Amino acid sequence: MGEIKRVIIIGAGQAGGETAQRLRQAGFDGDITLIGEEPCPPYQRPPLSKAYLAGKISMDRLLLRPASVYAEERIAFLQGVKAVWIDRAGKKVRVEGGRELPYDALVLATGARPRKLPLVGADLDGVHLFRTAADVDTIRPRFVSGAKLIVIGAGYIGLEVAAVARQTGLDVTVIETAVRPLARVTSPEVAGFFLDEHTRQGVRFLLGGQPAVIKGKAHVTGVGLADGGELPADLVIAGIGVTPETTLAQHSGLTVDNGVVTDATCRTSDPSIFAIGDCATRPMAHFDQRLCRLESVHSAVEGAKIVAATIMGQTHAVEAPWFWSDQYDLKLQIAGLFQGYDHVVFRGVMADRSFAAFYYKGEKLIAVDAVNRPGEYLGAKMLIQTGRTLAQDVITDEARTMKELVASAR
Ligand code: NAP
Repeated sequence: MGEIKRVIIIGAGQAGGETAQRLRQAGFDGDITLIGEEPCPPYQRPPLSKAYLAGKISMDRLLLRPASVYAEERIAFLQGVKAVWIDRAGKKVRVEGGRELPYDALVLATGARPRKLPLVGADLDGVHLFRTAADVDTIRPRFVSGAKLIVIGAGYIGLEVAAVARQTGLDVTVIETAVRPLARVTSPEVAGFFLDEHTRQGVRFLLGGQPAVIKGKAHVTGVGLADGGELPADLVIAGIGVTPETTLAQHSGLTVDNGVVTDATCRTSDPSIFAIGDCATRPMAHFDQRLCRLESVHSAVEGAKIVAATIMGQTHAVEAPWFWSDQYDLKLQIAGLFQGYDHVVFRGVMADRSFAAFYYKGEKLIAVDAVNRPGEYLGAKMLIQTGRTLAQDVITDEARTMKELVASAR
């Protein structure tokens, strides 16, 4: 790749917005164009299913940075604009309407699309996906005490929405096809803890449930199940996962395999094109260099840092993956990737609603789920980050603080 004077970023979510910002912070003086389909500047999605749904914060608080900074930092922000074609040979991006923009480096930060319910009736009024601020703006007026809400999917979206709904006084049922909630993201033990908490808060669960049809004429009235049962509903929210948005990459012949495939520097099979965030898959230092597509703020921000560093001829030291989820008064903080663990040990007890689950592969600590235990989260994250470990009988010794234990780790 020759001298880079023009960078185009497609996608103005957290990954795209952070890339523009980090490039300027790193001293990039060339042209930056940020293209975003949504009708607003880059914003944070995590509060959508928490404080924003609860009506506790406004759109201004979601914005990554005030709208005015893009002009101040000479970032050409094309808001509400869709990129429709990449001409790799000519190094140009075509946007809707036909305008073509030249680039020296292109960053794909196209994110992911929420999966639609594959059911008859999924288009009825009152049936919602949950991905954008606009989705939540449509849902919120219907999110009223006493309304019957059916949440389909017991992932993070499903459980965070269920928690806010109960706190708002809705009648909540969660239908999940798997036999437990959070199956993709945590162990049966921790999933069981969250299931118990939600049940205690009055959420009903239909685990192993098979929604078969959404019922109603113009507006939803219920969900029909494969076993013939039916549940009444005023509102249905689907949180059944996402699909990486790779259409442009595929059409332009880039390598795609559950996301746009990149190397550790986020470079795709075309050296002038990078891909980051939810749409991209790259080898992860903290996952034995296996290809991994993470749907998280950490992944979005880290991708932005890596790309900015690479474009500026610098390197970036990668961090262990981290995630979080807020449900009721529970703060779940996760570091590392638990997939492939063979043992889990606990510090603290679930009954106290304050504990940490440490996941081991052999002797090696690979991940932590900490509930209302910020010290355990930070300590374990540091260990995972630096490839150190603690014996299982040592990490669970509550007579010693996590800080002391981390200091003693090899
Ligand atoms: P998710 O974590 O993939 O969970 C979706 C759940 O829905 C899975 O348990 C899935 O089960 C289930 N499911 C799939 N099809 C179903 C069907 N037809 N009927 C009933 N259940 C079904 O995705 P999500 O909760 O929708 O979240 C979307 C994205 O936002 C993810 O990237 C997530 O990480 C992110 N997000 C993160 C946070 C956070 O980190 N705190 C909060 C909100 C959202 P199977 O796996 O068996 O298909």
